[in-house]
Amino acid sequence: MALSDFPRHRLTFGPSPVHPLERLTAHLGGAEIWAKREDVNSGLAFGGNKTRKLEYIVPDAIAQGADTLVSIGGYQSNHTRQVAAVAASLGMKAVLVQENWVDWPDPLADRVGNILLSRLMGAEVRLDPAGFGIGFKDSWTRAIEDVEERGGIPYAIPAGASDHRLGGLGFANWAVELEQQERELGVFFDTIVVCAVTGSTHAGMIAGFAALEEAGGPKRRVIGIDASAKIDETRDQVGRIARATAELIGVERALRDDEITVLEGWAGNEYGIPVDSTLEAMRLTGRLEGVILDPVYEGKSMAALVDLVTSGDIPSDSTVLYAHLGGQPAVNAYSALFSQPTATSH
Ligand SMILES: *Cc1c(COP(=O)(O)O)cnc(C)c1O
Repeated sequence: MALSDFPRHRLTFGPSPVHPLERLTAHLGGAEIWAKREDVNSGLAFGGNKTRKLEYIVPDAIAQGADTLVSIGGYQSNHTRQVAAVAASLGMKAVLVQENWVDWPDPLADRVGNILLSRLMGAEVRLDPAGFGIGFKDSWTRAIEDVEERGGIPYAIPAGASDHRLGGLGFANWAVELEQQERELGVFFDTIVVCAVTGSTHAGMIAGFAALEEAGGPKRRVIGIDASAKIDETRDQVGRIARATAELIGVERALRDDEITVLEGWAGNEYGIPVDSTLEAMRLTGRLEGVILDPVYEGKSMAALVDLVTSGDIPSDSTVLYAHLGGQPAVNAYSALFSQPTATSH
């Protein structure tokens, strides 16, 4: 099967915007930097990368006759917020298991931002004190059983919509979409920088570009930046999902190891806790470009981009695409970090 054979339920506006970050480029003085914006890809509760993944999962949920989407994430999960929005737009219910993944002392972490939006959209939010993990969970199994006991038909979507047979397809399609945009804009991105945690965003891109390469397209570097502070798990997720997705969409060769690059060094010690480089990247992008990044994911991948461009690891003749995956509502749970104005020279 090819990617175009899989049913897609439109949840995004259309191709997500691609645009240059001119002031950031000038500031760093190296490679030319552009962004592709999943943070504005949909009208469903601010969208994001999970909305794009769900375009290929929703048809399966509908085909199975589901009336309730069940999913799991941290208190400030962007993923569960997007599941809540998609469920609302389909006329389905959502049951969300929200675990205490982040050891972050904000007293409003279980009330503002993403979790507030999920409640606002009518999702049943179940707080669970369990810690960070992207595996299968008892609380999740219980939620599914509860839906069945009430006579509903649940459809289970794992954390980040990643460990799902169809989880990589959304970003395989992102690769196809990008290639078309490159033709229209007359630009070629030799390097892509993307945040990776549950893995199917980066993995889907790898599979999508592998399929395009097989059809005669160019090679490029797709650099995943770990934000989970569990690099072995992230590499395992990305490699496994990339290979499974490539096979699913008919890539005939085995993926090369150099196609699966997940770098560590910007996550700090813990998922969900920003480090100095995260906050610097957030402030830099905010004040130079008016583009908002979150402290859990995008601030970390941007910190990596800044370092890789500044060090010349990404050479100055490169044209780099920063995949902005969304996540802004979570900033509301990190207000203590931004309560003092920061003096800068820009
Ligand atoms: C989920 C998420 C990521 C990580 O994507 P994965 O597919 O889980 O690797 C990055 N950024 C944001 C804003 C996210 O919500």
